[in-house]
Amino acid sequence: MFLFDLALIKKYDQSGPRYTSYPTANNFSKFTQQQYEAQVALSNSRQGPISLYCHIPFCDTVCFYCGCNKVVTKDKTKAQTYLQALFKEIDMQSMLFDKTRQVEQMHFGGGTPTFLSNEQIIKLSEKLQSAFWFADDGEYSIEIDPRGVDGNTIKALIKARFNRISLGIQDFNTDVQKAINRIQSFEQTQSVIRIARENGFESVSIDLIYGLPKQSVETFKTTLNQVAELRPDRISIFNYAHLPELFKPQRRINIAELPSADEKLAIFKYSIDFLLAQGYVYIGMDHFALPQDPLAIAQEEGHLYRNFQGYSTHADCDIVGLGLSSIAQVGESFSQNEKDLDSYYQKINIGKLPVVKGKIISKDDKIRHAVIMDLICHFQFDFDKIEQNFSINFRDYFKDTFASLTAMHNDGLIELDNHSIQVMEKGKFLIRNICMVFDAYLATSKTQFSKTI
Ligand code: SF4
Repeated sequence: MFLFDLALIKKYDQSGPRYTSYPTANNFSKFTQQQYEAQVALSNSRQGPISLYCHIPFCDTVCFYCGCNKVVTKDKTKAQTYLQALFKEIDMQSMLFDKTRQVEQMHFGGGTPTFLSNEQIIKLSEKLQSAFWFADDGEYSIEIDPRGVDGNTIKALIKARFNRISLGIQDFNTDVQKAINRIQSFEQTQSVIRIARENGFESVSIDLIYGLPKQSVETFKTTLNQVAELRPDRISIFNYAHLPELFKPQRRINIAELPSADEKLAIFKYSIDFLLAQGYVYIGMDHFALPQDPLAIAQEEGHLYRNFQGYSTHADCDIVGLGLSSIAQVGESFSQNEKDLDSYYQKINIGKLPVVKGKIISKDDKIRHAVIMDLICHFQFDFDKIEQNFSINFRDYFKDTFASLTAMHNDGLIELDNHSIQVMEKGKFLIRNICMVFDAYLATSKTQFSKTI
């Protein structure tokens, strides 16, 4: 069992990145189409599989806790205009990648991908399948909003080749739902999951959030019992970060209704104990999975990976980002598309890729990325591995980190010896803090991150 040490969690109460990449996206700077194309050429020379990420930015209502890049509208005609641009981007992107490279993963995220009509989802998937070569046994996932989904949508998603769905729940309590402007009944959610499973969906992931207005341990216990009834394959339980100066919708949250810091931690602790008792495996950060889920198996076998979509079993894929604000990981670079819809359309309309920001990964970035990946995915790190892969002496290279690592060792977060770092049970919930020791950009970063717990 994990040791949830309240005193330590308070001591390490900090804000920090979620490390879906290293360097993190706040370190991206101007990036040109030429730079992107050079990275695609590099990745083609190495071949390897592809993961497609497609961003659908629209939502028809706004959730007050939202920190995503989205466009809130009830005007469904906007989807058609967007798809026209997206299809052009798919054409431009697919011309760059060798046809011998197979797509092993596809993910539609948002926003709300099911803002698109069933026909539009099928057309978009078919467009991608005609532009790229899809593996028969790929992992094809989509985020859905159960409030707008019925049996016909599920059938359309199957036709569009999706085999995994992920859906937001956040909390089933009606008072909490009113406070966050997201009314979604248990029955509606249960029905969508049942129909998805009956139609052959292999995996169901759900998201919960702790720290929302009107939440308490008592109210969240009921939500967790209902979640246990649904028995999703994967569960993420995110910490609500109240940053109204960054995310406008959050200004509509009444801060007087937010749980206290102690209550919030108590909710998180109860949730962990509950999910472990229900047989879920703690994957890391805020993620849990059933033991037979590929994520749990990948962690057990040592090949779990983390990227912009969270934990992943496909470590060797180049990620092609399509659509507004999407992030790509190609060759030795990260890059991001325009975040503003008009700017995105302008670039596409003049036949340019909408890439705007990014970063070429340096050797130092690669070394630190390798350390952070091992820690965040496997809770351990062997110095030998990095010394062999990068021809460095770990202790010399990271001499500046040893004071912090020794303090963490003395606090029982890690076991530090001459050959390795092992994250102890007490340190697993503070994994972001441990990774932050290896982040060379934090000292000069002006970005506001969420709390690590
Ligand atoms: S949380 Fe999701 S569904 Fe809600 S407004 Fe944000 S992107 Fe849309």
